[in-house]
Amino acid sequence: MTQAREVRTTCPYCGVGCGVLAKVAADGAVTVRGDPLHPANFGRLCSKGSALAEIIDLDGRLLHPEIGGKRTNWDDALDLVASKFSQAIEKHGSDSVAFYVSGQLLTEDYYLANKLMKGFIGSANIDTNSRLCMSSSVAGHRRAFGSDTVPGTYEDLEKADLVVLVGSNLAWCHPVLYQRIVAAKDKRPGMKIVVIDPRRTMTADIAEMHLAIAPDGDVALFSGLLGYLAAKDRLNRDYIAAHTNGFDEALAAAPSLADVAAWTELSPETLSAFYALFAASEKTVTVYSQGVNQSVSGTDKVNAIINCHLATGRIGKPGAGPFSITGQPNAMGGREVGGLANMLAAHMDIENSEHRDRVQRFWASPAIAEKPGLKAVDLFRAVGDGRIKALWIMATNPVDSMPEADAVQAALAACPFVVVSDVLARTDTARHAHVRLPAAGWGEKDGTVTNSERRISRQRAFLPLPGEARPDWRIIADVARRMGFAEAFDHQHQAAVFAEHAALSDFENGGARDFDIGRYAGIDAEAYEAMQPFQWPARPEGRESIRFFDNGHFYTPDRKARFIAVRAHEKAAPNPAYPLTLNTGRIRDHWHTMTRTGKSPRLSQHIAEPFAEIHPLDAALHGIADADLVRLESPHGSVVVRALVTMRQRRGSVFAPMHWTDQFASNARIDTLAPAVVDPISGQPASKKIDIRMHKL
Ligand code: SF4
Repeated sequence: MTQAREVRTTCPYCGVGCGVLAKVAADGAVTVRGDPLHPANFGRLCSKGSALAEIIDLDGRLLHPEIGGKRTNWDDALDLVASKFSQAIEKHGSDSVAFYVSGQLLTEDYYLANKLMKGFIGSANIDTNSRLCMSSSVAGHRRAFGSDTVPGTYEDLEKADLVVLVGSNLAWCHPVLYQRIVAAKDKRPGMKIVVIDPRRTMTADIAEMHLAIAPDGDVALFSGLLGYLAAKDRLNRDYIAAHTNGFDEALAAAPSLADVAAWTELSPETLSAFYALFAASEKTVTVYSQGVNQSVSGTDKVNAIINCHLATGRIGKPGAGPFSITGQPNAMGGREVGGLANMLAAHMDIENSEHRDRVQRFWASPAIAEKPGLKAVDLFRAVGDGRIKALWIMATNPVDSMPEADAVQAALAACPFVVVSDVLARTDTARHAHVRLPAAGWGEKDGTVTNSERRISRQRAFLPLPGEARPDWRIIADVARRMGFAEAFDHQHQAAVFAEHAALSDFENGGARDFDIGRYAGIDAEAYEAMQPFQWPARPEGRESIRFFDNGHFYTPDRKARFIAVRAHEKAAPNPAYPLTLNTGRIRDHWHTMTRTGKSPRLSQHIAEPFAEIHPLDAALHGIADADLVRLESPHGSVVVRALVTMRQRRGSVFAPMHWTDQFASNARIDTLAPAVVDPISGQPASKKIDIRMHKL
């Protein structure tokens, strides 16, 4: 009998990135507890993290490679993938192929996928489900700071006198971070919380103020705040003069209080109370999440928030700053390796020829991508209209999670060649694969992830690889070698991939970019195994190591931050055929399309079936009573869910979670309702403002 052992790893769910201790008993039974030494959670775990041991069984797993639904061996599967991609590239060009990857991948997987597509295939057609999560924040950061830098840390939230949570149900979606704020507020009852959300979520229960804002009212709200700060002489004019550009233009775009009230549907008194609190609280952190990002004006919302922090100099200081919280465990790691179609590795810019040249020389690659590739929505459109001849989907389920999900399904069904690498055999996406490749899951693979505060932590294996499953990085390297790139993909260990990623971050850099983990460039397998969680930048000895922006220097050419003049769009007239607004989101105990959390009966006890939160007056208008079955319809699809009539919902709005698929409930795929409408700058879909109608079944 083997001895019991405990392995230090990281939770695979949300962007908080909690440390987990996984104990494997002598009989093989696994239990988990929070890692008391991990700086993200100090021993805490939420309900999902606590149930991790319940989702690691092999039920439903893809354990062998398959071609055409039939078991095959790795060599045949990999040969076919490599030859189909090579043939498509040869016949139709490098932009005829694409990868759609995931914030669930580890950084090492993400790095090699990006390297293969951008540096060796020579296309930037690699996008990720993180496009659906935080790409508006990326775009907003780059506009304001010249870099995709998240300046905040979790400690800042605990040190703040005012925490403003915008479009963020932290209590359910980032529970351990929420617990940290609750604990900080218990210690310092003077700390104030404001929640800005159309819906009164559980998060609002600890807030001094809940602003039930009209959907997409955030640009007006924060532009109005900028105007208020100027009118009340609460600006930091020295900071604005020394460290920023564009203030006057941004201020000129600020609406009047009356206009803000009209846009947000908040009373002037409520607005003034919030503005006064913000103006008076030097230590303010503004946290934003999907309610900000998933919008046609997501990037403008981010910049409207950042503008207020720049105008008050509340950035780069303890307890102050704008703070984007990511949804997925490794959305940040994906950004670091350039896993978005419009980015290059190590936070370099694909549209900058010097950056392209630098990355190409580092990789010694034959064909660097010359222009941004297709972002997620456009990528699946290109699959649908036949421009993409070969598509590889890794660790994600777009048939259920993309907007216009039925159109995505039809596109995959018509695509000449689809590869899916996943842990599960029969997701709604995997059903459409010509080749299925069995990937290693959480607990079986080794690598790194980066959480929302830029902290890189190890995920460690504590289980044997089941069947013939392989880590994703290895599958990608196996295909790359077969495509003729053996030398550049000869990594024998995940540590070698991480070391290369770290070396690229420091290559001809000299600390000139924000993302720099050059200290790890020479890391070997032993040191990688022992790696402790750390935050970047992690620069070589003697090089400046900083709290971002504490010196007032940004990553723009003149080192000054940029105000962006943002204006609220005209309010769209109500759509008489679809008069209600659907807001989609997560619930506390399920994750994404439930491929893992759906395995735990304990997690399903919290909320057992798909539902829609409806305001009592809307329910009455439609003859709907609590617990009735209702049909929600948009021009793109329809679903059937249980009515939950509640005053927590705004009049005219409906909330429904995005988790359920046909595997768990029939006719409840919420993303079939969402239109493929995106923010024009970030390309992020607007999943929180969907025109629908409803009726009782
Ligand atoms: Fe995992 Fe997020 Fe819960 Fe932490 S808060 S245990 S990272 S799901």
